[in-house]
Amino acid sequence: MDCIFCRIINGELPSKKIYESEHVLAFEDIQKAAPIHVLIVPKLHVESILELPEDRPELLVELHKAIKEVATLTGVAQEGFRLVSNKGKAAGQTVFHLHFHILGGRDLELTLA
Ligand code: 5GP
Ligand code: ZN
Repeated sequence: MDCIFCRIINGELPSKKIYESEHVLAFEDIQKAAPIHVLIVPKLHVESILELPEDRPELLVELHKAIKEVATLTGVAQEGFRLVSNKGKAAGQTVFHLHFHILGGRDLELTLA
């Protein structure tokens, strides 16, 4: 399988790491859409939130913890940030390994789409 995020997770490709726990990695987006743009991914390869196994609740717990840590570490926790996960081509997903974008550091447009 040729997954760019799996290659980042296993160290084959470099990334600017922001936070890491047993099951989760957070790193800077290579093409930042905002001053703060971090991707939070489970180390387990799943395509989207729909494939995240229900019998692994610790993954969701760690993803939640990572969101809080990244928001705090990058300084956007107070001023606010946007949390986005695109699922499927129609939503704009281009890397088919579940990821959450954290965007902040500037005023974001009032839009959901
Ligand atoms: P999506 O469009 O799937 O929601 O988001 C994929 C994101 O991954 C994009 O924002 C893109 O800039 C980012 N990305 C793609 N390839 C790489 C890479 O090799 N390294 C990093 N750090 N980000 C990447
Ligand atoms: Zn992957």
